[in-house]
Amino acid sequence: MEKPYDYLIVGAGLYGAVFAQQAKEAGQKCLVIDKRDHIAGNIYTEKVEGIDVHCYGAHIFHTNDQKVWSYVNRFTEFNRYTNSPVANYRGEIYNLPFNMNTFNKMWGVITPEQAQARIDEQRKAACITNPKNLEEQAISLAGTDIYEKLIKGYTQKQWGRPCSELPAFIIKRLPVRLIYDNNYFNALYQGIPVEGYTKMVENLLGDTEVRLNVDYLKQKTEFDKLADKIVYTGPIDAYFGYQLGALQYRSVRFETETLDMENYQGDAVVNYTDAETPYTRIIEHKHFTFGTQPKTVISREYSAEWKPGDEPYYPVNDEKNGALYQKYKALVNAEPNVIFGGRLGEYKYYDMDQVIEEALDVAKKELTRFWCGK
Ligand code: UDP
Repeated sequence: MEKPYDYLIVGAGLYGAVFAQQAKEAGQKCLVIDKRDHIAGNIYTEKVEGIDVHCYGAHIFHTNDQKVWSYVNRFTEFNRYTNSPVANYRGEIYNLPFNMNTFNKMWGVITPEQAQARIDEQRKAACITNPKNLEEQAISLAGTDIYEKLIKGYTQKQWGRPCSELPAFIIKRLPVRLIYDNNYFNALYQGIPVEGYTKMVENLLGDTEVRLNVDYLKQKTEFDKLADKIVYTGPIDAYFGYQLGALQYRSVRFETETLDMENYQGDAVVNYTDAETPYTRIIEHKHFTFGTQPKTVISREYSAEWKPGDEPYYPVNDEKNGALYQKYKALVNAEPNVIFGGRLGEYKYYDMDQVIEEALDVAKKELTRFWCGK
């Protein structure tokens, strides 16, 4: 018997919405479902006092990929926001990412040569030649002072593990630059959707049918009857009923407050890099869109180990979890009608542009056969 939909897309986040958009364009009928009561997954934004609040943490769109940039611009207009967060270490303010402004404040150095000499001196003193973990990588890139004041406490709070037990690649996300440039990202294109991310996802979904408040895994048998193929963007271990054990995730909790003042901290993102402050950062949402509202909304971000019932945010890409993920991935071969995608489906620390790129690639491969006749 013919099924009512060509694709069932589980998860109305960025991956699911991009896939749905591509499938629609290829003439395929999709049903998108999500267990939350809203679309857009963790990039969901909601208006409070006229301000787009990033309800699941700050999302700043940045990419080097011209194809991805052109694609997203079909669905929303971006502003010229450039991320330039500051670090607050026990009341001392430093520019991020690590650049000449940071080095000048830290050491009083003026020239790139002086800064490099300081970093080299500290790397040598720490005897690091071949960095094996985040701690060694950080010292090797930026020196011991930067590591102690701006990386160690923050990273341990964010990941709940000592830096010596974390993979080096996490810190490589942050550029170290010997120029006076506070732009956090080395990206050609950057910005925030002027109407919020929710609107962008709404535009991607267009008139595709979306059902909210439905838990796919609880009603899997019924939902599987609705479509020939499934695109699953939830946690891969949950899909397989945790049969090989649970993958670890970091979760984040937000304490959000509306304040009766125009400007609380003068920047969208302030990181608290000491170990004692219980939160990792404070987001002041209006600065993402240069808001001039009379009030302001701030969110303190607390990081925690994920436990059942919490929202998973970050995969913990250490060796143990990497090995377990590979075992789950082997089970995927037995599910030829299911595509696993996104941060949770692929257990990967993806940025938004990478999610889009991946979804577009997978959709292209999957949907070529429908394009052929067009
Ligand atoms: N990081 C840090 N100090 C900071 C900001 C970031 O040590 O002030 C490190 C930390 O290990 C973090 C990594 O850099 O996990 C990546 O930071 P990013 O801002 O890319 O993380 P995200 O915004 O995805 O949470």
